[in-house]
Amino acid sequence: MNTKEKKIRIAIDGPSGAGKSTIAKAVAAKLDIDYIDTGAMYRAVGYKMISEGISVADSDRERLKNMLERTEIDFCGGNIILDGEIINDRIRTPEVSKMASDCSALPEVRSKLTTLQKQIAASKSVIMDGRDIGTNVIKDAEFKFFMTASAEERAGRRHKELIEKGQDISYAQVLADIKTRDKNDSTRALNPLRQADDAELLDTTGMSIEDVIRFILSEVEKSGTN
Ligand code: C5P
Repeated sequence: MNTKEKKIRIAIDGPSGAGKSTIAKAVAAKLDIDYIDTGAMYRAVGYKMISEGISVADSDRERLKNMLERTEIDFCGGNIILDGEIINDRIRTPEVSKMASDCSALPEVRSKLTTLQKQIAASKSVIMDGRDIGTNVIKDAEFKFFMTASAEERAGRRHKELIEKGQDISYAQVLADIKTRDKNDSTRALNPLRQADDAELLDTTGMSIEDVIRFILSEVEKSGTN
């Protein structure tokens, strides 16, 4: 039995900066399955809202609904495509991060994106990362992991990445942003961030990226699915 014959779905949830996307990308490549970055989908919607001047206020709700009806989001060759355009880099700014977090609490946005994510997961083997994959999007996933690390370690990793990209930001600011996003993600009414009852907790504090990848691959191998 292997991933070509049998569909496997791997759900990875966890807070910002836990390393989910780096790990998920590498595991997807090893298993030759698709990686779906659901955070990038919320970022795409946030990016389009900023571009069209639509806020999260109730007064803009009709405009938002109308915008969502004419929005197409897709993944192709590791790229995220919004209405036919590759937008990979444009969705990684602090402004888009904030709007993605804010708009992810709106029912219209969650409904549009979770419907799309469920369709994708129904059609093929995937590894999908986000906040509500194991609890909502793929409740019956073959593998579920809840990946976390201390806020300080996550802030340290994110700060290093931003500095390497040439951004001028302090560690204290990154830590404060991470704590705010943790609170927003875990306290929102709709699909808050939480560990699914049947998800395996993976605390990556002090673990290397390679260790985490090896651990997930060994769990898949142990089950005989691959
Ligand atoms: O993972 P990433 O930081 O790119 O996600 C951007 C935002 O999208 C997060 O702040 C989170 O609030 C939201 N999100 C979500 N549900 C998901 C994935 C991301 O609410 N499944």
